[in-house]
Amino acid sequence: MAEAVCCDSICLRVLDFSETSQVVTLLTASHGVIRLIAKGIRRIPKKTFSPLMAPLDVLAAGQVVFIPARQDGQLATLTAWDVTDHRPLIRRDYKKIIVTQLLAEVTTAAGATDDATGEMLLELERTIRDLAAADSLRPVVAYLKYAASAAGYGLDMLRCAECKKSLGLHASLQRRSVGLFCDGCCRGESLIRVDRRILSALHRLPSPCNLPVPADQAPADPVALFQAAQLLLFHLRAVLDERLRLITPFQLTYCPPSEWSAAVS
Ligand SMILES: [Zn+2]
Repeated sequence: MAEAVCCDSICLRVLDFSETSQVVTLLTASHGVIRLIAKGIRRIPKKTFSPLMAPLDVLAAGQVVFIPARQDGQLATLTAWDVTDHRPLIRRDYKKIIVTQLLAEVTTAAGATDDATGEMLLELERTIRDLAAADSLRPVVAYLKYAASAAGYGLDMLRCAECKKSLGLHASLQRRSVGLFCDGCCRGESLIRVDRRILSALHRLPSPCNLPVPADQAPADPVALFQAAQLLLFHLRAVLDERLRLITPFQLTYCPPSEWSAAVS
């Protein structure tokens, strides 16, 4: 029998598996993104005391105890879950639920290299906390940028993916290509075209853990942040080959009024 592992985690996805069991996806400090079977979890009456009593809901943080899978592709076995933060401030705000669920989707798809799993957990935790505390999309954009790099697909915000020259006043993402293209090299269908000032700001943006606390951050431009978020989401969708089904609900919820004509691809 493999030895049980105990570590911090954030719940990314919950699927009912049978009448009594669920399959959950967790971002763990020790093993990165893993899928676990939680046997019997749906049978526990709400008021009993049990290690699995606390709700195992998407975005909740908690300490998990599990038996790792013996082979790739198998499920680990969840033996205990102790919730440490059920995110009450996120759960009472529809917009924040949408964007944090989108981050859970991105994290599930991106994973992280083995040596960065603990770091990814800290970055996602900080992002969710900052979102709970303030309304800005800045931590979200910082996390999307971080997740792309952690998955090995950092976006070059300074040079054209084709001619390798410094980008001009604007740059575009194209359908069926990866990277940013200058106006001279953009021949396909443009998914999004953004101003160089947004790209320079994005290039300088640190990871969520290296941002000042929300109260100390400079006021943000919601239009620029929304465009930066879209740019990174389209890039992640292309490189991870995932649908990221919450992109459209995110766009519908967060699109600033001035962007309505341009948005929603
Ligand atoms: Zn070019």
